[in-house]
Amino acid sequence: MLALRLIAEGRTELVEMETPPAPPAGQVKVQMKTVALNHIDVWGLRGMAFAKRKLPLTVAVEGAGVVVEVGAGVTSHKVGDRVALYAGVTCGHCKRCLRGQENLCENIAGIMGFHIDGLAAQYVNLDPRQAIHIPDGVNDVDAACATTTFGTVEHMLFENARLEPGETILIQAGGSGIGTTAIRMAKKAGAYIFTTVGSDEKIDKVKALGADVAINYNKDRFESIVRRQTDKKGVDVVFEHVGPDTWAKSLFCLKRGGRLVTCGSTTGVSAETNLFALFQNQIRIFGSFGANFGNIRSGLAKMADKSVLPVIDSEIELGDIGTALRRMQSRDLFGKIVAHVPG
Ligand SMILES: [Zn+2]
Repeated sequence: MLALRLIAEGRTELVEMETPPAPPAGQVKVQMKTVALNHIDVWGLRGMAFAKRKLPLTVAVEGAGVVVEVGAGVTSHKVGDRVALYAGVTCGHCKRCLRGQENLCENIAGIMGFHIDGLAAQYVNLDPRQAIHIPDGVNDVDAACATTTFGTVEHMLFENARLEPGETILIQAGGSGIGTTAIRMAKKAGAYIFTTVGSDEKIDKVKALGADVAINYNKDRFESIVRRQTDKKGVDVVFEHVGPDTWAKSLFCLKRGGRLVTCGSTTGVSAETNLFALFQNQIRIFGSFGANFGNIRSGLAKMADKSVLPVIDSEIELGDIGTALRRMQSRDLFGKIVAHVPG
């Protein structure tokens, strides 16, 4: 089969490799149809030091496919089931897993596409718990964005920050994959949305998604505009994933009792925090990583009833993932890049 492998730091290659054997007891074999790219793939490409792993490694942490073989003892899935794949190899029996907090699993065995082989291949064998049924009416391109993109945003907005109708939110990097999703989800939830973008041409695009105020952070100071337009009170929620470049200003944009939720740090790992502002204003900060199965089902339900759909920047072929990841690094995109896996 074909797979897109990370051969060395910064270098990917489309290679021919052995197709997985018939799935062992308790596993299913999935034929991949699509994979979506995420910033975690860019970290992977750059060989971020915190990941213990061996190269070469098949990339991609989210995607969709169809079950083509079922191992002994599997009753939850049958051949022909369409599934969105969850990259976290969780145990299914620890306290966190039993509570439906899979992204806090106490025995996580790694993340496919980051620590161990991922989803950018024609076939994968995995635990059927990682294969979440796709409801009718959701196509393979949208479904590719269910587990990491939609799941992460669901988890951040509604489980961590508990965004409520009528609240104000600042969504950083609104043109990114999760930024565009966050705008659409926050809009559906009835929030008033400030967002930042890196160029003027993205301003109309994020407004079309539902942003009320769009700020080009290369030209204007977003923190001044947010403070001014909220009567100097600040917003209820900040949606962060940029890091050092925006962190201190993001905190400054929060009102008393506000919540900041972050799932990434694309500009570095350390940032300064004003501790006086943190406790005096009773700010709450949530670190968020991935999603639980419930978040993913909620996201898929929104895709199925068409109330929130992912924004697709482009559809590419499997072999073009390396080029696309470099494009992501330069932030020259709007929404998600989804690769088709050849049949
Ligand atoms: Zn567990």
